[in-house]
Amino acid sequence: MTRAVVLSHLGHELLVAPEPSLTPTRCALRSALPPLVAGDEVRLAEDEDAVLAVEALPRQTLLERQTARGTRPICANLDTLLITFASAPAPHGDLLDPLLAAAFDAGLEPWLLHNKCDLASPEAEALHQEFTALGFRVFRLSAREGMGIDALRAALSGRRAAFAGQSGVGKSSLLNALMPEAAAKVGSLSERLNRGLGRGRHTTSVVRLYPLGARLSDGTLIDAPGLRRFVPVPVSAWALAKTFPDVAAAAAHCRFRDCAHDQEPGCGVQAALADGTLGAERLARYRQCQAGPETL
Ligand code: GDP
Repeated sequence: MTRAVVLSHLGHELLVAPEPSLTPTRCALRSALPPLVAGDEVRLAEDEDAVLAVEALPRQTLLERQTARGTRPICANLDTLLITFASAPAPHGDLLDPLLAAAFDAGLEPWLLHNKCDLASPEAEALHQEFTALGFRVFRLSAREGMGIDALRAALSGRRAAFAGQSGVGKSSLLNALMPEAAAKVGSLSERLNRGLGRGRHTTSVVRLYPLGARLSDGTLIDAPGLRRFVPVPVSAWALAKTFPDVAAAAAHCRFRDCAHDQEPGCGVQAALADGTLGAERLARYRQCQAGPETL
C-alpha cells in the first residue's frame, strides 16, 4: 500500500503527497480515521475509481497554535523548526523566544536562520551572537547572495523542517534558494489545486511540501500558512528552561525550588543579575515568554 503525507484536510477529502512521486493528489477518507493535519502520514488504497486513505500512521510530533477558541493543531511529524530572523525588518528576541519554546514543547529542534546577512544590522548580529553563545544552532544566510545556502541544504538532509518567523524576513526567498526547481514545480501545482478546489477558505490553507529527495525519508521542507501566523501554546516550565538556559542555570542556585526570582532570599537569578552574569533584558524576555502573548 502506498504511503503518503497529508498536505491538507479539506472537509471529507484529503490532499496528500503519495510516494514515490509526492505529487499532490486528492483522496477520500475511510470514515474511522481520526482528524488529520498537514504532515500526518497515511496509507492509501485504490479501488476501481478512487483513492482512499485507509490507515493513519502513528504521529511522532504535533505543533499546535493558540487561537481565541483554544488550541489548534497545525503540523504533525516535524523534527526541526526553522525560526527565521533577518537584518531587516529589525529582529526582536522576544518574538523569537516563544517560537523556540514552542519547538521544545512539541519535541522539535529549533534552528535559528539569520537571513539577509548581506545587509549590516547590529541588532541582528547581537541576536546571532547571543543565541550562538547559548548553544543554539544559528545559520548565517543570504537568500539574495546565496550565502550559507549549501550548508543549510546539507544540514536539512533527512529532516522534516518548517519555516516560522515574522513576515518579510525572507522565508519564501530561502525556500526558493534551497530548492529552486522543486519550489517552482510544487508552487505551480499548488496553484492549480487551489483553483480546482474553488472555495476561498481552502485556498490559503494549502500546505506546500518540498521534498529534499526522492522519498519522504530523504527529508521535506514544509511551508504551512498556519505556521507563518503562529501564536504558540503557553509554554511549559521545561521548555522555558530550554529556551533560557542562562536563566535556568542561575535558577539552579535558588534556595527555594518554587522561587519566583523576585524578592525571595537566596535567589540565584537575582544574584546573577547583581554580579552581571545575567543581563536584565534576558530576565525580562524570560518573564514575557512565561506570561505568553497578550492577544491572540
Ligand atoms: P517572507 O515573508 O518571510 O516569505 O519573506 P520574502 O521571502 O517574501 O522576502 C521579503 C523581502 O525580503 C523580499 O523583498 C525579498 O527580496 C527580500 N529578501 C529575501 N532574502 C533576502 C536577502 O538575503 N537579502 C536581502 N537584502 N533581501 C532579501
